[in-house]
Amino acid sequence: MNKILKVKCPQCDIEFNYYNSLFRPFCCEKCKMIDLGHWFQETYTVPSKPSSIEEAQELIKEVEKFQQEQSNNEEN
Ligand SMILES: [Zn+2]
Repeated sequence: MNKILKVKCPQCDIEFNYYNSLFRPFCCEKCKMIDLGHWFQETYTVPSKPSSIEEAQELIKEVEKFQQEQSNNEEN
Protein backbone atom coordinates (compact mmCIF):
# COMPACT_ATOMS: atom_id res chain seq x y z
CA MET A 1 0.00 0.00 0.00
CA ASN A 2 1.47 3.31 -1.04
CA LYS A 3 0.79 6.04 1.41
CA ILE A 4 1.22 9.62 0.32
CA LEU A 5 1.76 12.51 2.63
CA LYS A 6 3.18 15.62 1.07
CA VAL A 7 5.32 17.59 3.46
CA LYS A 8 7.90 20.29 3.13
CA CYS A 9 11.45 19.52 4.08
CA PRO A 10 12.27 21.67 7.12
CA GLN A 11 15.78 22.13 5.77
CA CYS A 12 15.44 23.01 2.08
CA ASP A 13 11.68 23.61 1.78
CA ILE A 14 11.22 21.09 -1.04
CA GLU A 15 7.91 19.26 -1.13
CA PHE A 16 8.23 15.50 -0.98
CA ASN A 17 6.32 12.39 -0.02
CA TYR A 18 6.94 11.81 3.65
CA TYR A 19 6.67 8.04 3.29
CA ASN A 20 9.18 7.91 0.44
CA SER A 21 12.01 9.48 2.37
CA LEU A 22 14.35 7.39 4.48
CA PHE A 23 15.56 10.56 6.09
CA ARG A 24 12.31 12.10 7.19
CA PRO A 25 11.27 14.51 8.28
CA PHE A 26 13.88 15.59 5.74
CA CYS A 27 13.78 14.96 2.00
CA CYS A 28 17.28 13.50 1.77
CA GLU A 29 20.34 12.50 3.75
CA LYS A 30 22.04 15.81 3.05
CA CYS A 31 19.28 17.81 4.71
CA LYS A 32 19.27 15.45 7.66
CA MET A 33 23.00 15.84 8.15
CA ILE A 34 22.78 19.62 7.85
CA ASP A 35 20.12 19.65 10.54
CA LEU A 36 22.14 17.33 12.78
CA GLY A 37 25.06 19.71 12.32
CA HIS A 38 22.99 22.61 13.57
CA TRP A 39 21.82 20.51 16.44
CA PHE A 40 25.38 19.59 17.42
CA GLN A 41 26.48 23.19 17.33
CA GLU A 42 23.78 23.95 19.85
CA THR A 43 24.70 20.92 21.90
CA TYR A 44 28.40 21.69 22.03
CA THR A 45 28.22 24.68 24.26
CA VAL A 46 31.39 23.39 25.97
CA PRO A 47 33.70 22.23 23.14
CA SER A 48 36.51 21.41 25.56
CA LYS A 49 34.70 18.25 26.67
CA PRO A 50 35.50 15.44 24.20
CA SER A 51 33.22 13.04 26.03
CA SER A 52 30.19 14.98 24.81
CA ILE A 53 31.29 14.41 21.21
CA GLU A 54 31.36 10.68 21.82
CA GLU A 55 27.97 10.87 23.44
CA ALA A 56 26.65 12.75 20.46
CA GLN A 57 28.08 10.15 18.08
CA GLU A 58 26.38 7.46 20.10
CA LEU A 59 23.18 9.43 19.80
CA ILE A 60 23.53 9.56 16.00
CA LYS A 61 23.89 5.78 15.95
CA GLU A 62 20.81 5.44 18.11
CA VAL A 63 18.83 7.73 15.83
CA GLU A 64 19.96 5.86 12.72
CA LYS A 65 19.15 2.51 14.32
CA PHE A 66 15.74 3.81 15.29
CA GLN A 67 15.05 5.07 11.78
CA GLN A 68 16.15 1.77 10.26
CA GLU A 69 13.85 -0.10 12.58
CA GLN A 70 11.05 2.26 11.65
CA SER A 71 11.51 1.68 7.93
CA ASN A 72 11.82 -2.07 8.46
CA ASN A 73 8.56 -2.12 10.34
CA GLU A 74 6.80 -0.31 7.55
CA GLU A 75 8.01 -2.77 4.94
CA ASN A 76 6.45 -5.66 6.83
ZN1 LIG B 1 15.56 18.81 1.98
